[in-house]
Amino acid sequence: MTTLPLNCNNCGAPLPVPESTRYLTCQFCHTQLEVVRDGNAAFTKVLDALQERTEQISADVRRLELKNELLTLEHNWDRESERLKLRNKHGGTYEPSAALAVFVIAVGIVMGVGMGTYFSPLFGFLALVVGVASGIHQLMAASAFDAASKRYQQRKQQLQREINELT
Ligand SMILES: [Zn+2]
Repeated sequence: MTTLPLNCNNCGAPLPVPESTRYLTCQFCHTQLEVVRDGNAAFTKVLDALQERTEQISADVRRLELKNELLTLEHNWDRESERLKLRNKHGGTYEPSAALAVFVIAVGIVMGVGMGTYFSPLFGFLALVVGVASGIHQLMAASAFDAASKRYQQRKQQLQREINELT
């Protein structure tokens, strides 16, 4: 195997390079080098500029990928949050809330006891059951919504951090 007696174009260290080698890294200063042949002469050329450009391009590509992922995440959350919302009587949706759930349960108890005392024990009991059941339904919906919302916010912040680190 023939070797070329080359020198690193960056630090000047001697680099015996096999004749077929095109690219190499200097083992002394770790510069990326290209072997350039000019007739019988051969020398090394620093590849840093090209490397920097390549790194810049891959950072640009990564940033585009992350932005795309962020858009997809936001789009999916729009759909998921709509699915996790509750429906009101007019066909609209609203965010389930734990505070509202507690209020609904309290109203159910007050109405149930009131109706049971002053009107009919059966209707009082039914009002109580309906109030407590819809309050619990609201409470479970609120907890599912909050958990999904937290997951979405965390992922979104993580993506935004990654995008900022690239810029
Ligand atoms: Zn070197």
